[in-house]
Amino acid sequence: MTAHSSRRSFTAITGLAALGAAVGATFGSTLGLGVRTAQADDSTTSPPPTPAAAPTRALRFAHCTDIHMTPNTNAFEGTARALNTVHATGAQMILTGGDLVMDSFATPRAMVDSEWVLFHKVFAEHCTIPVEHCLGNHDILGWCKSKAQATGSESDFGYARALSELKLSSRWRSFDRNGWHFIVLSSVEPDPKDECGYLARLNPQQRAWLEADLAATKLPIVVVSHIPIVSITSSMRGGDQEKAQKTEISGGSMHLDANTIHSMFRKSGHVKLVLSGHMHLIDQCTADGITYACSGAVCGGWWKKNANHCDPTFALIDLFADGTFHYEMRNTEWVIA
Ligand SMILES: [Zn+2]
Repeated sequence: MTAHSSRRSFTAITGLAALGAAVGATFGSTLGLGVRTAQADDSTTSPPPTPAAAPTRALRFAHCTDIHMTPNTNAFEGTARALNTVHATGAQMILTGGDLVMDSFATPRAMVDSEWVLFHKVFAEHCTIPVEHCLGNHDILGWCKSKAQATGSESDFGYARALSELKLSSRWRSFDRNGWHFIVLSSVEPDPKDECGYLARLNPQQRAWLEADLAATKLPIVVVSHIPIVSITSSMRGGDQEKAQKTEISGGSMHLDANTIHSMFRKSGHVKLVLSGHMHLIDQCTADGITYACSGAVCGGWWKKNANHCDPTFALIDLFADGTFHYEMRNTEWVIA
């Protein structure tokens, strides 16, 4: 488990099931240093190991989360640079992680309109590979009615705006790609006590859909949600934990139904990698053979220098035909001035 800055470093994980086939490869969250293997330590006394056949790569894709497009900073140039860097890796697909625009949750419509215009423009001009989108809290139009100057009766209120912008028919969905199954979840539900708040959980319809979707495939599975289902950095926020003598995690920082969802993933037996964003921080952990990874943010700290200890990043992921994967963090090569 790690939680660390992406500055001048990257983190790599090789899927647990790949260990047998990839002995000596970087394994674990080790700042790219790798874990020395028994073979390496015993190399003077043991015969060299027979090299295992490399698994066949089925798909390389980039997880680009938290772009937060806005006309108010150089977000356009920073995202263009990120997309160029992604293309240079040979990635065949981009999976976004939500918070595509800076904010539409509590922002008046005129600004939201300009954010979406720029968002579409940067992908039109700098992306030639397929993109699959996931939605975040900042992509929801006007839930914080007072600040957004919304009434709630607008035809594009709530999720409708982002679904229309992205030509999606549902805020959760799944698809197959190159022998892997992708599940895109929608984390953000209203907080009944606070119209300007939100809670991370699946509503009953989405939970039922997920259960049926998991049961319907035997392919290895990648899941993406905006808010982490399980994460380490979520537990590092909040109030005075020492004084309270307990670690509290906000219902807006990690899924309240993590236990239920993780149990569903375990029951499936095919979920390998669960991606998230939202934290603008990088972490990974593995529970019961399922790896949860939070992939930083393309915008770093909301395009502001020193606003967070996360440089502009994305995750580069190789999926293999044998159901294993390799995940590593990359800098977008954009330096926030
Ligand atoms: Zn964000």
